[in-house]
Amino acid sequence: MSDIQTVIRRDVLLAPYTTFRIGGPARFFAEPVSIDEFEDCIGWALDRGIQFFILGTGANILVSDAGYSGFVIHTGRLDRIEVEGTDLRAECGAQVDRLVDKSLEFSLTGLEFAAGLPGTLGGALFMNAKAFGGCFADVVYSVETLTARDNILKNRMLRKSELEFSYKRSVFQQRTCFIERAVLSLSHGSKERIRTLIEENRSARKKRGHYRYPNAGSIFKNDYGVGKPAGQLIDETGLKGTRIGDAEVYTKHGNFIINRGNATAWDVYSLIRLVRERVAERTGIVLETEIILTGDWKET
Ligand SMILES: Cc1cc2nc3c(=O)[nH]c(=O)nc-3n(C[C@H](O)[C@H](O)[C@H](O)COP(=O)(O)OP(=O)(O)OC[C@H]3O[C@@H](n4cnc5c(N)ncnc54)[C@H](O)[C@@H]3O)c2cc1C
Repeated sequence: MSDIQTVIRRDVLLAPYTTFRIGGPARFFAEPVSIDEFEDCIGWALDRGIQFFILGTGANILVSDAGYSGFVIHTGRLDRIEVEGTDLRAECGAQVDRLVDKSLEFSLTGLEFAAGLPGTLGGALFMNAKAFGGCFADVVYSVETLTARDNILKNRMLRKSELEFSYKRSVFQQRTCFIERAVLSLSHGSKERIRTLIEENRSARKKRGHYRYPNAGSIFKNDYGVGKPAGQLIDETGLKGTRIGDAEVYTKHGNFIINRGNATAWDVYSLIRLVRERVAERTGIVLETEIILTGDWKET
């Protein structure tokens, strides 16, 4: 066991670790450099009864202005990727777009849908991230996990059938099960065709203004029973461009809220509530949030 005390920092501002660029400090913060150290961090928190949060790229979360009074374990340095035949085996902190590049390098097809998706492999599996007609459930073969039950940690390999994937859902949302590594199963394909699809998907995101302002992607889930995506419902309610403080319903995409520069978590949260209320008033549909509120919200 490494001396975990030496890798734990205190009062680390979380805003730079999120794509919204919003959020107060974490009381404890660590960036483990190996899976062993990752396990030690989780063990350290469990032994002391300290709540903890696994943070990838922070591309699907809104951290409160007050920050997080527990322990944030950032996976950014757990980013090793290996290729074995048509499989990609990677650690949880590997960036999805690096996995996409790796698939191209080895002429492996199946992951093109994820081109340009901000986030880590761990975050993508947690959310069953979905784009351009594909999702992570389509490509995952198995996941090496650390599972906590009654404060006892156990390593478990989960097969795809045990991952309980559905639209933006997975077994990991039960929060007792942490992703360490995963194997994605791809197939041999034409390098030119793979390259073209990747470039098309990346450039579609760029054209839609995904990277122009800090944001966390879609705020609300789509309800496919409704027949219209959440962004269209928000657009038809006339909410594009609505602002609270420096948070704005993006004019290019109704389901995105952007940080115009100095938005607080409270600005974003208030805008989420306003959008939900207005859409419900007009359509009777109550939108379900996709982004995860993290940190201490009680005081606000
Ligand atoms: C511009 C933009 C465009 C986007 N487009 C899409 C899109 O097309 N489709 C889509 O589905 N999403 C989209 N998103 C959202 C985001 O990219 C995905 O949800 C992504 O999978 C989040 O990964 P992350 O590493 O940032 O996770 P984080 O935001 O850091 O964490 C999300 C959740 O995953 C958990 N988690 C992370 N790692 C682990 C782990 N190792 N073990 C257990 N739990 C873990 C966290 O605790 C948290 O609860 C977009 C976001 C942005 C900013």
